[in-house]
Formats: sequence, structure tokens, C-alpha cells
Amino acid sequence: MKYVPSDLEIAQAHQMKPITEIAKSIGLSEDDIDLYGKYKAKINLDVLRKFNDRPQGKLIDITAITPTPLGEGKTVTTIGLTQGLGKIGKKVITTLRQPSMGPVFGIKGGAAGGGYSQVVPMEDINIHFTGDIHAVEAANNLLAAMIDTSILLGNPLHIDPMTVMWNRVLDTNDRALRDIVVGLGGKENGYPRQTGFDMAVASEVMAVLALADSLPDLRMRLGRMIVAYTYDGNPVTAEDLKAAGAMTVMMKEAIKPNLVQTLEGQACIMHAGPFANIAHGQSSVLADKIALRLADYVVTESGFGSDLGMEKFMDIKCRQSGLRPSCVVLTCTIRALKMHGGLGNVVAGRPLPEELTKENLAALEKGCANLIHHINIASSYGIPVVVSINRFTPDTDAEVALVRKMALEAGALGAYPITVWADGGAGAVELAEAVAAACEKPADFQLLYPDDLNIKEKIEVLAKRIYNADGVVYEPLAERKIKQFEALGLGHLPICMAKTHLSISHDPNMKGLPENYIFPIRDIRASVGAGFLYPLAGAMRTMPGLGSKPAAHKVDIDDYGRTVGLF
Ligand code: ADP
Ligand code: MG
Repeated sequence: MKYVPSDLEIAQAHQMKPITEIAKSIGLSEDDIDLYGKYKAKINLDVLRKFNDRPQGKLIDITAITPTPLGEGKTVTTIGLTQGLGKIGKKVITTLRQPSMGPVFGIKGGAAGGGYSQVVPMEDINIHFTGDIHAVEAANNLLAAMIDTSILLGNPLHIDPMTVMWNRVLDTNDRALRDIVVGLGGKENGYPRQTGFDMAVASEVMAVLALADSLPDLRMRLGRMIVAYTYDGNPVTAEDLKAAGAMTVMMKEAIKPNLVQTLEGQACIMHAGPFANIAHGQSSVLADKIALRLADYVVTESGFGSDLGMEKFMDIKCRQSGLRPSCVVLTCTIRALKMHGGLGNVVAGRPLPEELTKENLAALEKGCANLIHHINIASSYGIPVVVSINRFTPDTDAEVALVRKMALEAGALGAYPITVWADGGAGAVELAEAVAAACEKPADFQLLYPDDLNIKEKIEVLAKRIYNADGVVYEPLAERKIKQFEALGLGHLPICMAKTHLSISHDPNMKGLPENYIFPIRDIRASVGAGFLYPLAGAMRTMPGLGSKPAAHKVDIDDYGRTVGLF
């Protein structure tokens, strides 16, 4: 494969089009957008009404097999396929999550694509962008301040301080803030209690932003978020604290989706970025709804593998919004499949184990058990599945041929190698043609479970059908909370499982296709504003830390004031 410069070098060398030109290319006038400089804009929500009678385009969801900690290229594939569809003359828009700043300065890794499949302006997208994450942070923290103040000043809502679940948030990886005590310093400063900080993108406000379909809907969802309980055990909401109105005002620009562009000039609507474990990990409903009126094809990414991101895309995002996908593209890499076949342990920040870079058809075939299970998961939603093999330099033709054969035998409609990281859209022409054809196939979309199953029944369906477990075991805390949520009338909500992305199971060490095991639930929590319950299968970090050599060490400016060292 040819030499490919760093992501930042490619992005900086690229001559972007003015964003007004990108807007025009998808039928938006200057009245439809608010400019944020020359290369970013926000899209006014009025366009939804304006184009309401237009036919909707086809929605394509990009998901993946169980990844290594390095990621197998979903974002790169999403952007590469968008560019590929552009190459074959299709009207296409990609909708993506906004990256969080925490990981940008933590472990190095592209968040807006990579190589010749990126969205730009890359530096802005990764740092501050149009301020949406800051707005989430501010709205979240206003509510936190109002909770502590209400407790201190007479506690009119009878909030039991021991039950406050609402943390403060920050868009920086700062482990020192995970567990803290607030309200020290005497009566004037508040009621001392233990609390903590989460990542801004782990705030329920971010999940609400991603699922709201209008400003009034955002207002309603923020209001119904449960933040604590009274001494009698009744829920206390943001509405009870009279915070939801002010929070909505703080979010009124953030609710407008952001317009940027791919390296090949297709529009990208980048909006919202909730966590993919304790939340559903999808870009916004509004971005998809707008994009579907403006293009014939909308390519979006759902975080992690099909057991997590795609399942939540279907059973939370599509369930709530009425969005219906026409095709699923399942990303895989030869290196990850060989790992699932029992070879080398991949660790982020370390070189790839050598055995993963040498041809090994036996390990690859064994590891395809993981691919086949993901094809089965995706197929169970009644939608055509196309497999995309993200080619890396060491992959051999025999290995690619084997994966193709296994994928087709497992019921994929097609399986195509792509080289979009090295070649841009030209590296996905065959895939683009196959995906466009797949979108014409009749789809019979089905959710995994109906709303009216009870909480345990829903978890059981997920455990058995998606995670391939024999059953579920609940710790006493989870049992108690399930009873409590059913009693509060929250049993109808869909499930947003918080589990590792590194295995189909709850255990990151169980590679390939785990079987003959029981899926454990430790705890279960409610995001009532977002509209889901999230059981915890293992410990989930909601505030990462920095390593001894964070990516921040390398980021700087050069003599010309240009950013260097960012990816
Ligand atoms: P995901 O969205 O699945 O987490 P990304 O698309 O962000 O994965 O890719 C993870 C990293 O791997 C990025 O830094 C990306 O640039 C890089 N990458 C992806 N595909 C390739 C490839 N074919 N060759 C080399 N690097 C790649
Ligand atoms: Mg990604």
C-alpha cells in the first residue's frame, strides 16, 4: 500500500470548500444555516418543516464485529462509504457523533475518521467544535448546583441527600474528580456529601440531546430526568427543581445539528455524542431526520459492535424516533478476526502482536465465529447485511477471500474489501454499489422485543439472543432496583446494556463466540429523560484518566501557529 501521511497532515493540506457551498449542494440556503466561521455551520430546525413533504432517503447503519481496543474502522468506513457513494454519483450525507475532547488528549486515536476518509475541519471538530459539549456540561452543572442549593436552603422537596445520583461533568479525563466531597467549609457552602464527576458526554443531557426530536421534546425530556429520591422514596426530577426551562435555553443552539464536510466534499451532519455503554452511543435523531430529507442515502455509525451499538441503534434510537434503516454494513478486519481465533492480545498504545500481521488461515477461520454471530444479530432485524472488510497493509488476498466466503455462507448479501483509509472513496466503489443495491431490497424491520415485556424478560432476550448466554443472574441490588423501577411505572422502557465492547459477553477476555455462560447483572439505573434503563454488567468507567504519556504531550503549535501532533 502507498505511503499515507498523518491524519492531521492530510486534513491540513486539504483545501476545504466554504460551508455555504456544501449547504447549497444539499439544497440548503443561507437562511437555513447559522455560520460558525467559514467551514462550520448549524442547521436551523425549521428545515424539517420546510422539507417535510420530500421523500425520505435510505438510512444505512455502519456497525462492526467485536473490535480490538484499537477500533476496526467503523468511522473510517462510514466516511469512506459516503465518499464511495459520492464517487458513483449518489446524493449522500453522513451523520456522525461529535468526538469528546477527553480521549483526544488521552489515548491517541482518530475520532473524525482517518487517512483519506476524514471529515474536516479536523482540529475544530476534535476541540470545542461549535460548543455543543460545553452547553451540555453547563446545563448539567446548573442542575447539579440547583440540587445542592435546594437541599441547603430548606430542602422544600425533601430530597434525601444520600440518594442524589446527579453528578457534575467535565470534558477532560480527570480521575482525581471521580469521587469527591462537596459542600465543605461550613454551613454557608452547603451540605457536605460525597459525589463525583463524569465525562460530559456521559451526562444524561447528552443522551437527551441525541434522542430529542424538537426543542419542546428536549424540554420535556430534560424535565423528566430523575436526579434523586425523597425521604419517602419518591423520585425527584429536574422539573421538580424548576431547572428544565433554564437548561433548555442553555441548549437551544446545541440542539441544531452541525454541518461539516468529508475530504471529498460530501456533507456531514455531526451532532451529539453520548457514551456507548451507559448511554446509547448514537449521533442525533434530528441529524438523521434532516439528512434523510436532503439526500437519497444517509450513512451513519453506531458505536462498538452490533451487540452494543447497532442493537441500541435499532432498539432505542429507531424504536423511539420511527427511523428505519434499509441496510446494515458490518465492518470487520482480518487482524481482529485472527485475534478472535486465539492469536495475540491487542493492547492500545502498544505495537500490534506480530502473529496478527502474518497469514494464518486456520486462526482466521476459527475467528470468523465472531463475524458469523454478528451477521446473525444484524439479520435478525430483518434488514439486508453487507460485510465490509477494512483492509490493512499485511492482509493477504487468501485471507480476504476466506472472510468473503465465510460471510456469504452466513447469509450476508455481499462482502467486499475496502481501502478507503489509503484511497478515499475510490477504495469503496464496489461496496457503495452493493450497498445502494441492498437498499432496494425489501426490508422487514423488526425490533428485538416489544415495549410491554417486563424488565427481566427484556434483559433475558438480550442475553440469550444477542450475547449468546444461557441465562441471566442478578445481584441483590439489581433485583431490588428492578422491583423499584417496575413499581414506578418505568418497566416499559427499552434496555441500554452497559457492558464491555471487547466481547459479545460481559467479560472482555471471552473472545470469538462466547457460549455456555450466565450473563451477570450487577445494578440497573434509569435515564428517564433519554428514555431507557441501563443495567450494568461489570464496572463502567464514566470518568477516564490520563496515562503517563497522554496524547496531550505531543500536541503543540509550530512557528506558523499551526497545530501539530494531533493524531
Ligand atoms: P472505530 O470507529 O471502529 O472505532 P476508526 O474508524 O476510528 O474505528 O479507526 C480506528 C483507527 O484506525 C483510526 O485511527 C483510523 O484512522 C485507523 N484505521 C482505520 N482503518 C485503517 C486502515 N485500513 N489502515 C490503517 N489505519 C486504519
Ligand atoms: Mg468510531
